[in-house]
Amino acid sequence: MNTSLSQQLFTRGKAVIPGGVNSPVRAFKLVDGTPFFVRSAKGAHLRDEDGNDYIDYIGTWGPAILGHAPDKIIAAVGDAITRGLGYGTPTAVEVDMAETIVRWIPSIDKVRMTSSGTEATMSAIRLARGYTGRKYIIKFEGCYHGHVDSLLVSAGSGALTCGKPDSAGVPDAFAALTIALPYNDKEAVRQAFAAHGSDIAAIILEPYPANAGLYFPKDNFLEYLRDITARHGALLIFDEVMTGFRLGKDGVQGIHGITPDITCLGKVIGGGLPVGAFGGRADIMDCVSPLGPVYQAGTLSGNPIAMTAGLTQLRELENTDAYSRLENLGARLEEGIRKALADTGNPFTFHRTGSMFCLFFTAKEVNNLQDAMTASLEQYRPFFRSLLEQGVYFAPSPYETGFISAAHTESDIDHTVAAVARALKSIG
Ligand code: PMP
Repeated sequence: MNTSLSQQLFTRGKAVIPGGVNSPVRAFKLVDGTPFFVRSAKGAHLRDEDGNDYIDYIGTWGPAILGHAPDKIIAAVGDAITRGLGYGTPTAVEVDMAETIVRWIPSIDKVRMTSSGTEATMSAIRLARGYTGRKYIIKFEGCYHGHVDSLLVSAGSGALTCGKPDSAGVPDAFAALTIALPYNDKEAVRQAFAAHGSDIAAIILEPYPANAGLYFPKDNFLEYLRDITARHGALLIFDEVMTGFRLGKDGVQGIHGITPDITCLGKVIGGGLPVGAFGGRADIMDCVSPLGPVYQAGTLSGNPIAMTAGLTQLRELENTDAYSRLENLGARLEEGIRKALADTGNPFTFHRTGSMFCLFFTAKEVNNLQDAMTASLEQYRPFFRSLLEQGVYFAPSPYETGFISAAHTESDIDHTVAAVARALKSIG
């Protein structure tokens, strides 16, 4: 595989951009590689600057649920840009977007748009503190909520990949207001509330943590969190930036029948453009400026082009059988990978829900960050490289979740399964 143009671009990029990339995981640091530079993308496929084709399981890190550059989104955006790129005034499409989110997610009465998931979580915890008048936030180890200062404590995703779950530059005084606990550990949560109950503003969590691999709540953990927060007058914030509209119309909260107080959204709701959102109960959301005292704003928030892309994607999800297609494709990939694991005698742990999946290079059951960290990086590296050479792009880190799009074909999945089987054999 010729990657000379990507290599040249990476050399040029490294001279003028920290690490040559604008977001850390893209640097392929953990897998000791050189990232490929993408020239174009369509459906489930990426084409790099050297002309190599890859079946993509990153999907722009989540947004591309219908695949890349879906015709309907491209057409809608093309039409919208003829009317201007943004006005800094209210627009009809923002109201349409808010109505759609409120209709799909019953826990959300009102919603405010942002330009990223990070802004959504940052605003949500400010709102929780403003609403409750309390200072502490509980988060869970390995959950990633964007690069918000006080949430970069035991964080997953790129922070974990780069070996810095606690970022430099976050003053101890900020970090001290964040209580980081092991996911799925009810006793740790109980103790935190016993010690600080009346000072805890909120628990924020990825209800299905997907930034340190992918694992799931056990023994009614989510129900427990709903109950203990309600009993102590703290808010429950579901960060569904990754899972929102990815697993169905009403996220993990819909699957488990839990009503969080605030929900953070992003990725899929932007249709590939920079969009985030936070929403929740009306009395809480009414604390946000201009109605209330919690300040929150954004020059490009609710940008009409981004709203058009996102809304078109949501309408496609609503009007097609995308979610059942994603489930079928996910089941096909799971069956193939489980068979490949059995055939090669590898005892690795495989997790999937709908179109999200993760292969952990460990035989251990994975229920929290500590379990996820037992996955072997030494085995993941050659596995990743072998897949890439076979034209299959999995995450350049064992701590990320894979995404299937509705544009993947059965033959893409079968090709991937065959490539996984070969990659597993090559690592022995
Ligand atoms: N929350 C979760 C659960 C995420 O996965 C991410 C991004 N991967 C974020 C928040 C931050 O979103 P963004 O990168 O758009 O700031």
